[in-house]
Amino acid sequence: MKKKYLKEKILLTIFVLMLSLSACQNTTQEVEPITEEQQQPTTTLEPTKEELSRIRREEDVVPLLDKAKQLALGYYYEEAIAILREVPKEFSQDKEVTEAIENYTQAMDSFVPYEQPVRHIFFHSLIVDTSRAFDGDYMSNGYNYWMTTVDEFYAILEELYANQYLLIDIHELCKEVTDENGKVTLVAAQPLVPEGKIPLVLSVDDVSYYDYMEHDGFAKKLLLDENGDVKNLYIDKDGIEHIGDYDVMPILDTFVKEHPDFSLRGAKGIIAATGYEGTLGYRVNQLESDTIETDREAVKSIAARLKETGWLFASHGYGHRHTATISYNSLVSDTRQWKDEIASLVGDTDIYIYPYGEEIAYPSQKLTYLQSEGFRYFCGVWASQAFVVVKDDYVRQTRCNLDGFTMISKPEAVEDLLDVKHIVDASRPALE
Ligand SMILES: [Zn+2]
Repeated sequence: MKKKYLKEKILLTIFVLMLSLSACQNTTQEVEPITEEQQQPTTTLEPTKEELSRIRREEDVVPLLDKAKQLALGYYYEEAIAILREVPKEFSQDKEVTEAIENYTQAMDSFVPYEQPVRHIFFHSLIVDTSRAFDGDYMSNGYNYWMTTVDEFYAILEELYANQYLLIDIHELCKEVTDENGKVTLVAAQPLVPEGKIPLVLSVDDVSYYDYMEHDGFAKKLLLDENGDVKNLYIDKDGIEHIGDYDVMPILDTFVKEHPDFSLRGAKGIIAATGYEGTLGYRVNQLESDTIETDREAVKSIAARLKETGWLFASHGYGHRHTATISYNSLVSDTRQWKDEIASLVGDTDIYIYPYGEEIAYPSQKLTYLQSEGFRYFCGVWASQAFVVVKDDYVRQTRCNLDGFTMISKPEAVEDLLDVKHIVDASRPALE
């Protein structure tokens, strides 16, 4: 059976083959011979000059246009223009390129000086879980006064953004002028901002994730995620670990990524660090700890990344002591200890943010000492209005706390910034 089938199949194949061969001969006979003209490579797959140029533009120009656009969104106009000047010569007159350069130059030239004193707002680490923070224990009322919830912080950012506020670096408040003898004098400066924008300085205090906050619904620490971004570790009420945006730094980073025009050239805020329970959630104050070296390395790399992404550090005193009332010698040892244990990891700073907002006298022996340690910017607390003074050798700026106390008991003090009706977390109990 099998053999017979095979034989039939071979015969059939030969028959089909002969048929198609004869058909083939017939058609070739009917086709006209190919002329020389037709053999010319006019219709081959080689791209034309125009097509080549279009491909080159797609590869070499469009990515630069995109990159420049991204930079311009965050007001990096000079950098955006510099990138567009790098397009290959043949595209230097490209319409989209020349128009972008013109637009960015115009935008840069249209910045105006902001003539009013600049506002400075501040926060403590945010409450993630209000049911744990406001659980009625001995800390509840303090959290209700001095802390802000994650939901409130999101609402505050949205409202500040809608109200045309723009984050700037505190160093925009003055210029350093060096005379012929090398002496540096500070001169007040009006920050240059796009017309209609209102400059704003932001800071966040402590960021130690103190022991007392454990189990009260706050983040545990900062860390770097697998992309190298600064995130929080948060442990929820069931003990489950979450890595994400649970405090001011990562939340603001994400917000600025989505709204680059909320930050002037990448400025974010100032982290006012203490030292007596370490910093950023790492107990680098425990010098005998088994993990001291890895903790120090963690703080170093997180701080480096924070600074790379627009954050600054300030001293908030090592022991969070009353700068105004402690002795001169205590201030000296407190400052030294901050420099040894914290500045050695996060870097030196010229910003001093008073614990409790308690300012020292200007001038005073303590001021002279802090200046000798490199501090130039001194920030107190004064909610109701913006206050900036620039003297030859220091800048003084007061800060406004956007927390339960201000938003509930003094909403009129911040009405230029936002309407607290849109902000205050419904889960807050009454202030006691
Ligand atoms: Zn503090």
